[in-house]
Amino acid sequence: MTLNRRTFLGAAGVVAAGLSAPMVLAQGRPRVVVVGGGAGGATAARYIAKDSKGEIDVTLIEPSRTYYTCFFSNLYLGGFQELSDIAHSYGTLAAEYGINVVHDWAVGVDRDAKTVSLAGGGSVPYDKLILSPGIDFVDGAVEGWDVSAQNKMPHAYKAGSQTELLKAQIMAMPEGGTFAMVAPPNPYRCPPGPYERVSMVAHVLKANNPTAKIIVADPKPKFSKMALFQEGWANHYEGMVDWIGEDFGGGNVSVNPDAMTLTIDGEETKVDVCNVIPAMKAGHIAEMAGVTDGNWAPVNAADMSSKADPDIYVLGDASQQGDMPKSGFSANSQAKVCANAVRGALTGSKVFPAKFSNTCWSLIDTDDGVKVGATYEATPEKIAKVDGFISQTGEDADLRKATYEESLGWYAGITSDMFG
Ligand SMILES: Cc1cc2nc3c(=O)[nH]c(=O)nc-3n(C[C@H](O)[C@H](O)[C@H](O)COP(=O)(O)OP(=O)(O)OC[C@H]3O[C@@H](n4cnc5c(N)ncnc54)[C@H](O)[C@@H]3O)c2cc1C
Repeated sequence: MTLNRRTFLGAAGVVAAGLSAPMVLAQGRPRVVVVGGGAGGATAARYIAKDSKGEIDVTLIEPSRTYYTCFFSNLYLGGFQELSDIAHSYGTLAAEYGINVVHDWAVGVDRDAKTVSLAGGGSVPYDKLILSPGIDFVDGAVEGWDVSAQNKMPHAYKAGSQTELLKAQIMAMPEGGTFAMVAPPNPYRCPPGPYERVSMVAHVLKANNPTAKIIVADPKPKFSKMALFQEGWANHYEGMVDWIGEDFGGGNVSVNPDAMTLTIDGEETKVDVCNVIPAMKAGHIAEMAGVTDGNWAPVNAADMSSKADPDIYVLGDASQQGDMPKSGFSANSQAKVCANAVRGALTGSKVFPAKFSNTCWSLIDTDDGVKVGATYEATPEKIAKVDGFISQTGEDADLRKATYEESLGWYAGITSDMFG
């Protein structure tokens, strides 16, 4: 029998399974390719490179040279952060961790050949592939809107120029004008994100344009930290925010970007800014790799491996994993579990039982921070919630200030955990 590389790998896999031995390749170091240099991908690449101490060859494919965190992008809208505060480069991952950072789009995955093809041409081989591409939008989710309208009606749900555009539009609103948001249906990236954004927009408008109004058209009957946000809006921005939930037709919306109108349940309103946040799905590359089922990519909770392919792992927002919210904290937590499992599979290093956690902080007004969080474990079915906590309504100002300050520490911690 002639052994080609694939039959060799297949045979090695059988032996490895039998002896619990690592899948070490005969030639060279095992190769991990990570697609997407965000909260999930950058963390996974860094941990695999750092902990394997050069035993694993790590390539990170990410088109942007600067990653703008969506986390704290609302605080930029509110004037609490500069855009430069939420910008991060990949230089340290390349220089200090030896990661091969490729600034390109992954445009295809050949699961038989185990290669990722790049928009710029060529392909990158892998033994294990980690996909953390974040989200894309569901076509036709909001009548009248598609990505060609994103300059008139920005989503600002991928941070960077979209966030800058939204802020410029808010600052240019006429006196007494109307800011509208079309909120997304579940599940979506960052459950409290739209409502923190409403708070931050209200904060700048209260200072610059106090007679302006905010309308939120929401397809959901309730949302994350709803009581806390509504208490905050009443305390800080009385009469400014009109939230129209499912019961009042908040899901029955269409927009006209040319006329700058929003129609809610048949009633058309002229608006000055329209922040459309459409329904979401896993980043396209997950679909191209054939690991999605519907909008998201199902994974095994113990190691974040795809249910469709044991050599592909899906992290963060793109994954369908169970109870964790789609957050940067979650993606970072999942990435560490995945990195440990991938390293174990490739080098035989010890694999620890999966444990996950998440906290989402939101700023409502100056020094008024709230949070919600939980711990999770891997079960055969899903990542399952173990226990949780949430800020309470009526908390005193010192506690709220401490909660906000805690979020500043978290931001510094997670970004250095991602980018070194
Ligand atoms: C307004 C807002 C506020 C938020 N606030 C918080 C918060 O306070 N706390 C929190 O924990 N989370 C927050 N989030 C959520 C958080 O940003 C996401 O959950 C997190 O970034 C998900 O990580 P990810 O790795 O799945 O995707 P991302 O971080 O989005 O990374 C995906 C990366 O993949 C790249 N990519 C996509 N397709 C390809 C391809 N084909 N080839 C190569 N690269 C590709 C993209 O360029 C991107 O850099 C917020 C989100 C928003 C929108």
